[in-house]
Amino acid sequence: MIAFPKFEGLAPVIALLYPPACTICAVSIRSGEYLCDECEEKAARIVAPFCEKCSEPFEGAIVGPFSCANCAHRTMHFDAAVAACRSRGVVREILHAFKYSRQIYLRHLVARWLRLAMDDERLRGRHFDIIVPVPLHPARQRERGFNQASLLAELLSREISVPWRPLLERIRYATTQTALDRAERLENLHNAFRLRKNANVRDSSVLLIDDVLTTGSTLSECARVLKRAGAHSVYAATAARA
Ligand SMILES: [Zn+2]
Ligand SMILES: [Zn+2]
Repeated sequence: MIAFPKFEGLAPVIALLYPPACTICAVSIRSGEYLCDECEEKAARIVAPFCEKCSEPFEGAIVGPFSCANCAHRTMHFDAAVAACRSRGVVREILHAFKYSRQIYLRHLVARWLRLAMDDERLRGRHFDIIVPVPLHPARQRERGFNQASLLAELLSREISVPWRPLLERIRYATTQTALDRAERLENLHNAFRLRKNANVRDSSVLLIDDVLTTGSTLSECARVLKRAGAHSVYAATAARA
C-alpha cells in the first residue's frame, strides 16, 4: 500500500495536515524519511560474494573475484554494473510505485539506494566525466510522463558533482522486456539505442544510470553504443537488480 500523497508540490501543505508516514506500512516516521526503520531493514542489500561484472549475488562461500555463468557466456559491454539492493519485496514495491504509479517523489528514496551503489569498491573513488541515463523511447516517455533514469541521474549528479546529460536515445519501441525470454530480449534490444546528434563521449569515462538491472542486456547495449563512440570506460550503477 502506498500511503504518501501523490502530489509532490503539495507536500509542505499535506505534511501539516498529515504527519509523515512510511510509504509501505503507513506508520508515523520522521520528516524527510520515506520508510520506517522496520521497512528500511527489509530492503535487501547486495553483499559479497557477487559477480564482479554484473553483481549477481552468489549463495555460498567464494573468496576473491569471480564471474557468473551469465557473464561467462556472453559479452557484457560495460566494465561493471553495480546495484545496491535486490529488486524484491519493499524495494520492488517502491520501484514499481515510482515508475508505474507516478509516485515521483519516491525518486529521492531510490536515489539514496543508487548513492549506496556508488560506495562499492568498483565505483568508489573512480573519476567519471559524465553521467548518462538509460533512455526511454519517446513514446514510452510520453506515456509515463518522465524517464525514471533521468530523474535519478539528475539527483546523483548533484550528490557526486558529475554533470549528467541524456546523450543516448532509444530508437526502437520495444515491447516490455519482462515478458520476453533472454534470446528475445537481446533481439528486442539490437540497435535499439544510438548516440544523440552532436553528443561526444570520445575518451570519456561514463557512468550509466538506470533504476534496475534485470538481465543486464539494456545496460550492455547502451555501453556498446557508448564504447563504439569512443568512451574509454562505461560503468553502470542501478538502485536494484533482479
Ligand atoms: Zn514501514
Ligand atoms: Zn555476471
